[in-house]
Amino acid sequence: MFSIKNHKVDINPWESAKKKLEIAAKEIDMDPNTLSYLNKTERSLVVSIPVIMDDGRLVNFEGFRCHHSTIRGPAKGGIRYSSDVTLDEIKALAFLMTMKNALLNLPLGGSKGGVRVDPHKVSKKELERITRRYTAEIINIIGPDIDIPAPDMGTDEQIMAWIFDTYSMQKGRPVPGVVTGKPTEIGGSVGRTGAVGTGMSYIVYEFCKRKDLDLKSMNIAIQGFGKVGKEIGKKLYDYGCNIIGVSDSKGGIYNPNGLEINDLIRFKNHENSVRDFDSNGGMKLNNEELIALECDMLCPCATENQLYSGNAESVNCRIILEGANSPTTSKADEIFESKDIIVIPDILANSGGVIISYFEYIQDIQSYFWDLDRINREMQHVLLDTFDVVYRVSKERNVSLRTAAYMIAGQRLAKAHELRGLFP
Ligand code: NAD
Repeated sequence: MFSIKNHKVDINPWESAKKKLEIAAKEIDMDPNTLSYLNKTERSLVVSIPVIMDDGRLVNFEGFRCHHSTIRGPAKGGIRYSSDVTLDEIKALAFLMTMKNALLNLPLGGSKGGVRVDPHKVSKKELERITRRYTAEIINIIGPDIDIPAPDMGTDEQIMAWIFDTYSMQKGRPVPGVVTGKPTEIGGSVGRTGAVGTGMSYIVYEFCKRKDLDLKSMNIAIQGFGKVGKEIGKKLYDYGCNIIGVSDSKGGIYNPNGLEINDLIRFKNHENSVRDFDSNGGMKLNNEELIALECDMLCPCATENQLYSGNAESVNCRIILEGANSPTTSKADEIFESKDIIVIPDILANSGGVIISYFEYIQDIQSYFWDLDRINREMQHVLLDTFDVVYRVSKERNVSLRTAAYMIAGQRLAKAHELRGLFP
């Protein structure tokens, strides 16, 4: 069975992330000093998280928080809980958040955090103790004016609630703006659940409109069926697409006649693997086979570097819609360009999550909450404006959508760097 982190990737995730900016930097003639500045992270904190487990043993977990850049505002980025998270992975994801927030023109920098733990293998009480101790260890570098975490892989609303509480207890006052993705009862925003999928659906709809493609007749394969995979699966199904293949970390299923996505979501929500779903005469397949399925659109929604030089040639679709962060290495990007496969890049495609996180943050600061209509209207506005400019630059400069997105983000970061100058 293909396994997520055991395969050989082209290069390390941090090097792969920088390569994407280098390509765009050439296009915009970025000052080499600015590029050199952006090629470093501002700070990375590695912490030990000692926790007493339910059986009385003390276990030291490893945690990270990294600020890639605060040049355009306080840093913002998720927290990942995964058994094999590394510092380089966190640096790459923090860098991506800088690019995403600059592309969206949000007044935020980029950050990411992680704890090396499989959240499914610890009890709820252990998870709470890990989260509270991790928050205490990184407390000096998070806060509404410094760095605002949010959920990512392996974390959820409950974990954000514990972070909010731990931080507030230390400060002696409630500070809801320290973290986003909280439950609505304690300062969360309506619309945050499902935001990534909603944003992806706006982008893909607009893309198909520009390209005169009929979404309804499309066959779709989705890799990864967690929060993001389920959200986009549901949206595409509601658009009338035929979801022919879905996978998770244990394997996948395929039925050329289409999968009943609502049943599949219900099945997956009961801690099952999609592999064991009764797909009405379909067949099981592994992740490499899922990636190679002949389809119109492949949605990688699992984790980074899933599409790399070793399997990019086997990809057999017209469009890749990146739900995951950094699922495609720069080598795979080159292969896709040579095969005329269009990649709708992560920093554009999955940015609905950070847009609503930003809305949550400003609602918390103002103690004034918006309704769902306003949330969706404003998100659509930011996303469609961003899509429009990326699409236009890509056409005008004859570059990929990813390079166009990095060119726009790079220009904004370079301008901020120029205006602020270098301290001291
Ligand atoms: P999640 O933990 O809810 O789900 C991850 C899914 O991927 C699970 O179904 C898991 O089984 C599956 N998976 C893991 N490795 C796999 C593999 N090799 N092949 C197939 N499936 C595999 O995580 P999520 O929140 O859905 O995040 C998924 C991706 O989307 C990550 O890259 C994350 O950074 C990105 N993302 C998340 C958010 C968010 O708000 N949650 C926002 C933007 C981007």
